[in-house]
Amino acid sequence: MNAREPGILWVVATPIGNLGDLSLRAQQVLRDVGVIAAEDTRHSRPLLQHFGIATALTALHEHNEREAVAAIVAKLQAGEDVALISDAGTPLISDPGFRLVRTARETGIDVSPVPGACAAIAALSVAGLPSDRFVFEGFLSAKTSARRARLRELADEARTLVIYESSHRIAECCADLRDAFGREREARLLRELTKLHETCIGMTLGEIAARVESDAEQRLGECVLVIAGRGEDIDAKLAEGRRVYALLRAELPPAQAAKLAAAISGAPRKALYESGKK
Ligand code: SAM
Repeated sequence: MNAREPGILWVVATPIGNLGDLSLRAQQVLRDVGVIAAEDTRHSRPLLQHFGIATALTALHEHNEREAVAAIVAKLQAGEDVALISDAGTPLISDPGFRLVRTARETGIDVSPVPGACAAIAALSVAGLPSDRFVFEGFLSAKTSARRARLRELADEARTLVIYESSHRIAECCADLRDAFGREREARLLRELTKLHETCIGMTLGEIAARVESDAEQRLGECVLVIAGRGEDIDAKLAEGRRVYALLRAELPPAQAAKLAAAISGAPRKALYESGKK
C-alpha cells in the first residue's frame, strides 16, 4: 500500500480589525482543512463563527510550541491539511508559528501562504513615507536601557523603519525615538488601522511625541510607528532651513518666517517652525 501524501500547511492571514478583510480564499481554506492551529482558540472562535466555519481548533502558542508542533506535523504527515492563524494579521509577523513552519519545511511538507492583512504593510502603504525599501523592527524591548541602545543603533538607518508598539508604552517609545533620531525626523503614528477609530498623526518625531504626551486618546488602541530613514538631503535642507529661518525671524512673525524659510530651503515648514520654538 502506498504511503499517503502529506497534507499542506496553509499559513492564513486574518483581519487586523475589519472582518471584511478575511479573503474568500482564506475562508475557503479555513473551512476545508482538517484542523486550524490558532494562537488563542478562544480569541479565534468568534471570528470563525462569524463566517460559519466549524473546523476544529488546536492551540499553538509560545508556551506549548514544542509539543504542539510535533502533534501538528504528525497530522500533516498523516495526510491532513492544517491552517495556521494568529490572533490578528499574518502569522509569524511578531506572532507565533516560526517553529511550526520551519519544522514543516525541514520535514518536506508543503507550506503555502494565504496572504492578507499585516499591520506593518498596511501602515507603510498609507504613511506617505518612502516605501521602496524599509526595515521591519517589530517590537522594541520593554526595558528602557535596551530600547534606547537599540534606537541609537538604528538612528543612522537610511531605510524607512516600521515599529510595533503597545499602547501602554507608546509615550515612552515616542520620546525615546525623538531623542535618538532627532525631533525633526519625519514619522507617522498609525493607530487602530481598519477600525472605527483609525488615525494617522505626525509629520516629525517632535510633533508626535508632544501629541502623544498631551492627548490621552493617542495612547489608546493598537499602534504602528513608521519613521523615515536618515537622509543626507533632508539633513542638509533642515540645516539650511534653520539658518534662513533664524535670519527671517529677526524681521517676521514665526509662521511667516517658517513659510518663507521652507520655500527657500525645501525643508518641511512645520519642522522649521518647531525648531524655532526650542
Ligand atoms: N501578526 C500581526 C500583523 O500581521 O500585523 C501583528 C501581531 S503583533 C502581536 C500586534 C501588534 O501589531 C500591535 O501591538 C500593533 O503594534 C500592531 N497592530 C495590529 N493590529 C493593528 C491595527 N489594527 N492598527 C495598528 N496596529 C496594529
